Amino acid sequence: MNKPQPYTGLNLQLIAGSWTEGRSGRSMTVSNPYTQQPLLEIPLANKDDLNQAYKMAFEAQIAWAALGPSARASVMLRAAQIFDERHEELVDWIIAESGSTRVKAEIEWASAKAITLEAASFPSRVHGRIVESDVPNKESRVYRRPLGVVGVISPWNFPFHLTQRSLAPALALGNAVVVKPASDTPVTGGLLLARIFEEAGLPAGVLSVVVGSGAEIGDDFVLHPVPSFISFTGSTPVGQNIARQASSGEHLKHVALELGGNNPFVVLADADLEQAVHAAVVGKFLHQGQICMAINRIIVEDSIYDSFATRFIDRVSNLVVGDPNDPKTAVGPVINQKQFNGLSQKVEQAKREGAQLSYAGESRGLVFAPHVFTEVKPEMELAYEEIFGPIAGLIRARDAEHALELANATHFGLSAAVFSGDLERGVQFARRIHSGMAHVNDIPVGDAPNVPFGGEKNSGLGRFNGDWAIDEFTTTQWVSLQREPRHYPF
Ligand code: NAD
Repeated sequence: MNKPQPYTGLNLQLIAGSWTEGRSGRSMTVSNPYTQQPLLEIPLANKDDLNQAYKMAFEAQIAWAALGPSARASVMLRAAQIFDERHEELVDWIIAESGSTRVKAEIEWASAKAITLEAASFPSRVHGRIVESDVPNKESRVYRRPLGVVGVISPWNFPFHLTQRSLAPALALGNAVVVKPASDTPVTGGLLLARIFEEAGLPAGVLSVVVGSGAEIGDDFVLHPVPSFISFTGSTPVGQNIARQASSGEHLKHVALELGGNNPFVVLADADLEQAVHAAVVGKFLHQGQICMAINRIIVEDSIYDSFATRFIDRVSNLVVGDPNDPKTAVGPVINQKQFNGLSQKVEQAKREGAQLSYAGESRGLVFAPHVFTEVKPEMELAYEEIFGPIAGLIRARDAEHALELANATHFGLSAAVFSGDLERGVQFARRIHSGMAHVNDIPVGDAPNVPFGGEKNSGLGRFNGDWAIDEFTTTQWVSLQREPRHYPF
């Protein structure tokens, strides 16, 4: 396979079919979180850029949706091929821009490719229905059609995959899309995907990527009359605000919200301890704990708590921490100084609240070293708030029922995990956890292109992937036809 020339001009944005500088007059420096060196300087977009992107998306969507299913599928398949051709380039960008370890960057690349391939099947999986009617000689048809223009807002932690998880299905199903990536990750969260889809033959204007400050274009991105659907992945407070805007502005919009988590990892007394400890370390520290599905609370039955804690701390103390480029590194840098400071405050708060700091590595630069707290209580901040960093908290449960009660004592409901020596007992336990996803004898971090991904409670609304994404990124229209004149009551 001939290696293509790496993409250039990534300081430009794809707005309404042309690569252009944002016109706000202000620019933003994108830096590598590990080296803290600048990667590029991006002139930011303003409201006019956003308006142009939405207006052209509105026009371009009609012709795009009118293309046959195989034409849209071909663009997805070609995009997936480009993922392969540019594998190294894309993984290197994920590492450089988001501070991902090589292991995580490879997972992210593979997940984004998998949803692209899955999306290639969507155009031929859209089905209408004919349903019965009580009215004589009436036929009721239900057509499924694209929503129109979709606005996608994505976070910085899995930027490449989380943008693509909305973008590829939305496009495949005949929508046009405008993406607003997170400020820390404009390249992997949007600009690279715009280059890939352009190379894959997506018609001009069907996709725009607008990089601008939240203060300048954030509200308009949601309130603009063109988008009929906002797909948001990010924190719960921002998601709640977007839901309010989408329902209270002049124009009502559908929303999908993939928000924060407070994911319990429950270890029952009959679990394979070594396996559970290993999973807990990976489920907690993958991507420095900056994953919505990462373990937030480790809940262990009293009879095995002490031996679990000893083994857990032993494994954590042996993790390779530092340069994300080094394939051996398990824990790299956090995304920025604000996150780092927030994590330092969480450590101090946990100490003040009486949790026991049982292990603390040495932090350097933006590499926040792993910390382990034991004897964490449900009322402590570490237990009731999303940590989103490499700090682990172990909670002691009296028995399995108490563990379940603790697991459900949260306003979040994204993912969960339970370890048990009895798989069916694990399943029954998992079914009593109020979360959108729950895993028996595995980590709570998991996504696949054909399973329903999403949360309950304050973790969000809607489901991604597979048939669920087809429902999410299309809408229905009931069309009835009266074959013979109808007898009306007056
Ligand atoms: P965030 O909510 O701060 O930002 C998310 C995105 O929203 C960014 O692109 C940001 O620029 C944008 N944004 C912020 N304010 C806005 C506004 N007023 N109007 C429009 N856009 C606005 O979240 P983050 O810090 O980037 O990401 C971390 C959070 O995301 C965590 O809570 C994590 O759990 C959650 N998350 C959820 C999922 C999921 O699938 N459920 C996946 C990844 C991350």
